[in-house]
Amino acid sequence: MNKINLKTAFITGISGQDGAYLSKLLLEKGYKIIGITRNNHSDSFEKLKSLKIDERIVMEECDLLDISSVIALIDKYLPDEIYNLAAQSSVGQSFKQPIGTINFNIISVLNLLEAIRLMKPDVRFYQASSSEMYGKVSNLPVSINTPMHPLSPYAISKASAHWTVVNYRESYGLYACNGVLFNHESYLRSSGFFVKKVLHESVRNKYNPNWILKVGNIDIKRDFGYSPNYVEAMWLMLQCENADDFIICSGTSITLRSIIEYIFGRLNISLDRLLIDTDLMRPTEIEDIYGDNTPAKTKLGWKYELDFYAVLDILIAEELKEFELK
Ligand code: NAP
Repeated sequence: MNKINLKTAFITGISGQDGAYLSKLLLEKGYKIIGITRNNHSDSFEKLKSLKIDERIVMEECDLLDISSVIALIDKYLPDEIYNLAAQSSVGQSFKQPIGTINFNIISVLNLLEAIRLMKPDVRFYQASSSEMYGKVSNLPVSINTPMHPLSPYAISKASAHWTVVNYRESYGLYACNGVLFNHESYLRSSGFFVKKVLHESVRNKYNPNWILKVGNIDIKRDFGYSPNYVEAMWLMLQCENADDFIICSGTSITLRSIIEYIFGRLNISLDRLLIDTDLMRPTEIEDIYGDNTPAKTKLGWKYELDFYAVLDILIAEELKEFELK
């Protein structure tokens, strides 16, 4: 007889890339999922629809900046696990909206932790931390103990939220974890992000003689992975005996330039179509960053061996399929 999992999980940021893949994973594991959204309109859930899981999730509209609303939701559903993925998630956007980014990305986390502490302190809490917190690093690979030197309002907000989680774990004994994820991509990534932007534009404009791909600094290096595999690490973090923080990454970095060259090569696009636009450069930029995923592999049993070029092959195929279907 199949064991029925009766756990209930909240997922904030349910409409985003990771919200969609994490929902799919938890549904497969038998969870009841309550999707927390700021905007309960069906057109917000395109990513869930594309995975054909939108109708299996109970949606709740909630302003995470309003603690009374958060308390009411915890009281209503008594969740076992909360995955907090909601955030203004773009580094570039955070330079344009620093106050909004810092305000939402910190206060929403504090409200969730306070509500858990007051209402149901046995809830297991996952926070979507980010490698951006480490910023200007002098020693690579990054480990969980690497000193933080954030280089953007987004990174500052994530660092503050990260330490808030640590503080609630240490002060009140909550089961609260930070998953420090490095860049991870998928077909469901929003089009403002670099890899998706290059793929989306290249596939659609390949035969357009007037198209030019405008990019900022493409000589920086990042550690890239695949979202459907990274959400598994989120779940694993909440299944341990004790709460802890983990780096989730591929373990190597590549330049943005090499990603463009690979995609252009696969699509037979000339590199003459590439234009470096100084308007797209950021005020400050991390030069190179990659992490150490050994603790995630040894302590969580997380498995990840994908080379990013193999991920790009998956993404190119999905992008072409979607384009040809339309
Ligand atoms: P995403 O696709 O941009 O999704 C972000 C989610 O947050 C969306 O559901 C969005 O809702 C919600 N959101 C944004 N601003 C909000 C606000 N002011 N109030 C309420 N909800 C808001 O991001 P993702 O790639 O899935 O990433 C998930 C989490 O991991 C984020 O916290 C991100 O910062 C973090 N992270 C991501 C990466 C990565 O490479 N993907 C790496 C490290 C950390 P709407 O649909 O309503 O806009």
